[in-house]
Amino acid sequence: MSAAHVAALRGHDVTLFEAKDVLGGQFNYAKVIPGKEEFFETIRYYINELEHLGVEIKLNTKVDKDMLEKAKFHHVIVATGVVPRSLEGKLEGAELPQVMSYAELLSGEKAVGNTVAVIGAGGIGFDVSEYLTANHGKSLDEIGPEGLKDPSYRPEPQSISEWREEWGVTNDTDYQSDGGLVRPAAIKPIRQVYLMQRSKGRLGSGLNKTSGWVHRAHIKSHGVIQVAGVQYDKITNEGIWVTNPQGQSQLLRVDSVVVCAGQESVVELMPNVGDAPDAQYHLIGGAKLAAELDAKRAIRDGAEVAAQI
Ligand SMILES: Cc1cc2nc3c(=O)[nH]c(=O)nc-3n(C[C@H](O)[C@H](O)[C@H](O)COP(=O)(O)OP(=O)(O)OC[C@H]3O[C@@H](n4cnc5c(N)ncnc54)[C@H](O)[C@@H]3O)c2cc1C
Repeated sequence: MSAAHVAALRGHDVTLFEAKDVLGGQFNYAKVIPGKEEFFETIRYYINELEHLGVEIKLNTKVDKDMLEKAKFHHVIVATGVVPRSLEGKLEGAELPQVMSYAELLSGEKAVGNTVAVIGAGGIGFDVSEYLTANHGKSLDEIGPEGLKDPSYRPEPQSISEWREEWGVTNDTDYQSDGGLVRPAAIKPIRQVYLMQRSKGRLGSGLNKTSGWVHRAHIKSHGVIQVAGVQYDKITNEGIWVTNPQGQSQLLRVDSVVVCAGQESVVELMPNVGDAPDAQYHLIGGAKLAAELDAKRAIRDGAEVAAQI
């Protein structure tokens, strides 16, 4: 969307292809995480701009190499992003129906039960744990995948009084409590979540410095059980078997497992070595590099490449 936007601003004829029936890629997953609702506006902004600039938008169109070859574009910007890394074939039981990727969960494609194990405690593992334990707003079960596609849909924000209670911030204009702070209200989590990582040490230590503490505080206050240094052995209909750091085998009885074990770049549209395509190809965003991916880098990549052609 960023590349199409800047290319169109510079006067190019631009066609934007999207395999799904909505624009926005992974922003559509980010937008349902509590506190990340502004991604709704990022998507809205780009759709408005692209329509205003006359970019031809082709939804439900999974591009393949043949199509690109026949279409005779001068430039092809490959922004095909990332897909969640699957554990199928790597972890016994990963193919069971109660096991899902974060994308299947956050798109509303699959629903979880009352007890959930989250595999992988990176930024997305934290986001998913927050999503699963947040007790305000509507769940995806209520909204449904179709509701999420409605451009006018916005999640119900947490009320100010709920927010004050959750974070222990008083409405204390007389300054009766130090710093206007009190002990946060005890929260009854709506689900029991286990957030797990293979590496030892504190969960979330790699999160962003300015906002990481918020995520760590949320999962603590919402009763998420943090498990570090485990080896995942197998998933069965009873739950997930792990070996703890002391070498003991344990069963976590859970209804569902959400896999947040990283992402892989999608690069299948890039020409192979030896091909001599007519168009010039540019690889950007998550498709170029899946590691440490953030929206700022993806948007900047798009703007920079479009400014150069
Ligand atoms: C839960 C979650 C929370 C996040 N939170 C943040 C955050 O707080 N801050 C932040 O900076 N970043 C965040 N991100 C990361 C951000 O979403 C990504 O950095 C960004 O979406 C990457 O953009 P992209 O265009 O490279 O790829 P993607 O978003 O993956 O988009 C690629 C698009 O290409 C389409 N596509 C793929 N192949 C084809 C094909 N052959 N033909 C047509 N279309 C195709 C896909 O359907 C998809 O729509 C979050 C991500 C997730 C999942």
